[in-house]
Amino acid sequence: MEDKLIFTIGKQKRIALIAHDGKKRELMEWCMKNREILSRHFLCGTGTTARMIADYTGLPVKGYSSGPLGGDQQIGARIVEGNVDFVIFFSDPLEAQPHDPDVKALLRIAQVYDIPIANNRATADFMITSSYMETEYEHEVVNFGKRVAERAEALGK
Ligand code: PGA
Repeated sequence: MEDKLIFTIGKQKRIALIAHDGKKRELMEWCMKNREILSRHFLCGTGTTARMIADYTGLPVKGYSSGPLGGDQQIGARIVEGNVDFVIFFSDPLEAQPHDPDVKALLRIAQVYDIPIANNRATADFMITSSYMETEYEHEVVNFGKRVAERAEALGK
């Protein structure tokens, strides 16, 4: 069995949008500026962010729970299931968050699954203008089936 598997991020991306309160206006404006590009992809987000972006831009954005109530964890779970493959997350570096462990968990799981994730506007600008936005993108992800089999074998001895 291979150590890594090839996963494909489709031409049509499944994009999650999240912004902390101090960054919501900035993300709404960023979405409006990139409305045309975003309209070609599937959008979802944490509850309040999703609602505000949908109202402001008119784009359909599927809303999960609010971030502090578990929305970041839901998006993390969608990454694990292969249903979110691109994340724009404007976190606020100057404000303590009650759900900081969830924020960290989302960043970590995006790293595990090699998911592109922007945590500020400049990164988001570079990502949204990438030529990969118009094509499929193949990347290598840990073969979790093999990892589980090896761990069960090694730990069961
Ligand atoms: P919200 O959650 O979109 O419901 O405000 C975002 C967050 O704080 O993670």
